[in-house]
Amino acid sequence: MKFVFITGGVMSSVGKGITTASMAMLFSRMGYSVTAIKIDPYINVDAGTMNPYMHGEVYVTEDGGETDLDLGHYERFLDRDLSKENNITTGKVYSRVIEKERRGDYLGQTVQIIPHVTDEIKNTIKKVGKDSGADVVFVEIGGTVGDIEGLPFLEAARQFMVDMGPSNVAYVHVAYVPVLPQTGEHKTKPLQHSVYELRRIGIQPNLIVARSPRHLSLSVKRKIALYGSVPVEAVISNPDSPSIYKVPIQLHEERLDIQLAKMLGLEAREPELGDWREFVEKQLSDNPRVRIGMVGKYTSLHDSYISIREAVVHASVKEGVTSEFKWIETTDVEKGRLSPEEALEGVGGAIILPGFGARGAEGKISVIRAAREGGVPLLGICFGLQMTVVEFARNVLGLKDAHSTEIDPRTPHPVITILEEQKNVEYLGGTMRLGGYEIELVKGTMVHSIYGRDVIVERHRHRYEVNPKYIGKLEDAGLKVSGWSKEGKRVEFVEYKNHRFYIATQAHPEFKSRPLKPSPIYWAFLRAVTGKSPVDLAR
Ligand code: GLN
Repeated sequence: MKFVFITGGVMSSVGKGITTASMAMLFSRMGYSVTAIKIDPYINVDAGTMNPYMHGEVYVTEDGGETDLDLGHYERFLDRDLSKENNITTGKVYSRVIEKERRGDYLGQTVQIIPHVTDEIKNTIKKVGKDSGADVVFVEIGGTVGDIEGLPFLEAARQFMVDMGPSNVAYVHVAYVPVLPQTGEHKTKPLQHSVYELRRIGIQPNLIVARSPRHLSLSVKRKIALYGSVPVEAVISNPDSPSIYKVPIQLHEERLDIQLAKMLGLEAREPELGDWREFVEKQLSDNPRVRIGMVGKYTSLHDSYISIREAVVHASVKEGVTSEFKWIETTDVEKGRLSPEEALEGVGGAIILPGFGARGAEGKISVIRAAREGGVPLLGICFGLQMTVVEFARNVLGLKDAHSTEIDPRTPHPVITILEEQKNVEYLGGTMRLGGYEIELVKGTMVHSIYGRDVIVERHRHRYEVNPKYIGKLEDAGLKVSGWSKEGKRVEFVEYKNHRFYIATQAHPEFKSRPLKPSPIYWAFLRAVTGKSPVDLAR
């Protein structure tokens, strides 16, 4: 098994995750079996308890992990499900070390960062690699070189080379090279310093990926090569791209794949990129445009809803359109800064986004009402379903003050209530209904025709559900339940018959959407937005 460690320099959020996903994808398309691991040096055990503003979206894996959003990039680029074990955090590592210490596994020893914590890190990485049967394991170390919390992970990465030998381990350093606006000149000094910092820890990068607004010239590459102690070909230019899906193609053109394969003693095969290139070409063509309203409360950080955005992109490419997003902040609607009708102006369809808590909920409900009354295609996701049901109960069934008990525990009409098994849950970390669950679709419904199957599996992340006591009334008024969970008969999908496209789901189908295999429900939504029949998916 070969290991590639990806480190970051200069600053975060420069696309290390996309670069890692792209490298793994190139190797997978060379015919190697690969896996990708994300290391998050924070002390949280997982991303589940973090606010999206802190961390972006919480990505849910099929096996119910609440992980870093980079896992989403890996799955989308590799077209493969990964496990929650592919996200390693300081919290997870230390919990295990402390558990072992209490059990007496280290009896007689002083437990230390080196070797106990670093051993735990190394063993975890090796285990994930082994369990996935990978030829090449890509390990992205989150954060930036020089961060205190990242040190044990970098130390473990350094030891890998000592343990396994240079032909089995490679280091790829992804660092930012700014362009000075006054002169248009690339400035390499920050990158140089990040390489020095890496060397201080004992890691000499094999490849340096320079993220920059523009391509690097040969002279800039030479300078980075000289200071970074790598051959000039090992400096890879990775400029801003109009599409994240174009990055693997850019890296391939810079021969990153061939060089990395050679370094690892692997045959440098030509990656099979035909369908991927076609996808990117279609995405970047001059397509007709549609506008999708994104109705939520974390709209100022678009990464909060990254999988939903990507699911729309995948569906849009399939339909030959380009989607533009109109971010509708429901707090603004709630505070009267924006009317629901204004919010939906110019929008071909609205996605009612997931969420937690009271802020923005009333605003969301008003926008749902406007979409229902105005015939705007609507797709509700998780909390989006819950608020769709609340709106329907209030304004169609006439149940005044109907609500979810998450927001109003004393509502006279609790149309959304806590799941039975959640009632006694005390710890909030990792205890929601999480991951893939089977859903039975009801024959004769729109959702059944869209999926074209009786049973599907979608991923979940929630504590609340539609109150079974209200299902009869909702259905009588036309809000049909079109999907039930196989275990326990919970509401998974609803659809409104008197509307062109009005579907909401308790699940998160966006987590399973892939560039070349769009999620059926998002695809159908996009068809409705473009005025086509949503049920005729030419699979
Ligand atoms: N807050 C809601 C629940 O816990 C919805 C969660 C979500 O949208 N992911 O059920």
